[in-house]
Amino acid sequence: MKIKLWGVRGSFPTSLIAKSIEEKIIAALSIAKPGDISSEESIRTFVANLPLSIKGTYGGNTTCIEVRTSSGELIIIDCGSGIINLGNELMRSEFGQGKGIANIFSTHTHWDHVHGIPFFTPMYIKGNKFNFYSPVADLRERIEYQQAKTHFPVGFDDMAASKKFFTLKPDENFYINETKLYTKSMPHPGGSYGIRIEDGDKVFVFTSDCEFNLDEIDDIRVYEDFFKNADIVVFDTQYTLQEALMDKTSWGHSSATMAIDIATEYEVKKLVLFHHDPGYSDDKLNTILANARSYINVNRKIKEDFILDIAYEGMEFEI
Ligand SMILES: [Zn+2]
Ligand SMILES: [Zn+2]
Repeated sequence: MKIKLWGVRGSFPTSLIAKSIEEKIIAALSIAKPGDISSEESIRTFVANLPLSIKGTYGGNTTCIEVRTSSGELIIIDCGSGIINLGNELMRSEFGQGKGIANIFSTHTHWDHVHGIPFFTPMYIKGNKFNFYSPVADLRERIEYQQAKTHFPVGFDDMAASKKFFTLKPDENFYINETKLYTKSMPHPGGSYGIRIEDGDKVFVFTSDCEFNLDEIDDIRVYEDFFKNADIVVFDTQYTLQEALMDKTSWGHSSATMAIDIATEYEVKKLVLFHHDPGYSDDKLNTILANARSYINVNRKIKEDFILDIAYEGMEFEI
């Protein structure tokens, strides 16, 4: 199974402002030695070896994940603005000739998880087929509403590709050909659903948006089947622990420490922090990752081979 993150930001898309770019150039030049910038080749080598937060960015697009199963199925999780770049990439494949088939799993319909659909080029191409899966029973109506003439010039039904909708039951397995999937209701205002994808003995779990607070961690057993032994869990960690507990209770998101506790409890092999707050700079995300790694050092239940990482746009995994 191959996984690629096309959008990792929560709430709304963000772009780097001029001041941020200036600071990155200053940071890069501050650590450059004369030999690093003596030729174009040396400059390229120097830049390639800089940390992501200096040479690039964690990314500003909202949620979209591409999953390719070992049997060749394409599963797209959520349609935030990240789906626009995925669509541009897909147009270079059979989707450009109207021969593409994709399965779209929708966690919920908050804007940051659906607002890429009107700009998803493959959906305008006749012959392409999209199968929408979600426990949200009126998903089609919600997406159509987003593209009512008062909001967007082209209606959802005017997008020429074929669109079918399948309503799922949470806590029940369903299959897309050989691939086993399982969806779970998550604590989030208005509701949200996580998804577990099992491809042979490999397991990928995605859960965003979700708010696990300390009270609920006492009752975390109900999530055991969902998280247990996953190879990778991509988890909503929009807030710091302080924000999650004090300032932004009931806003619907978790913190890295909560995610680590859950990952540890269910023997997850790799945890990826996700759904970054749009107000967080690349430096702040570096700090969040560093703090989360410090927390691992004091968590006695953590196994030595546990891997913690933080999502960035373009991040890829193969399991
Ligand atoms: Zn969200
Ligand atoms: Zn949400």
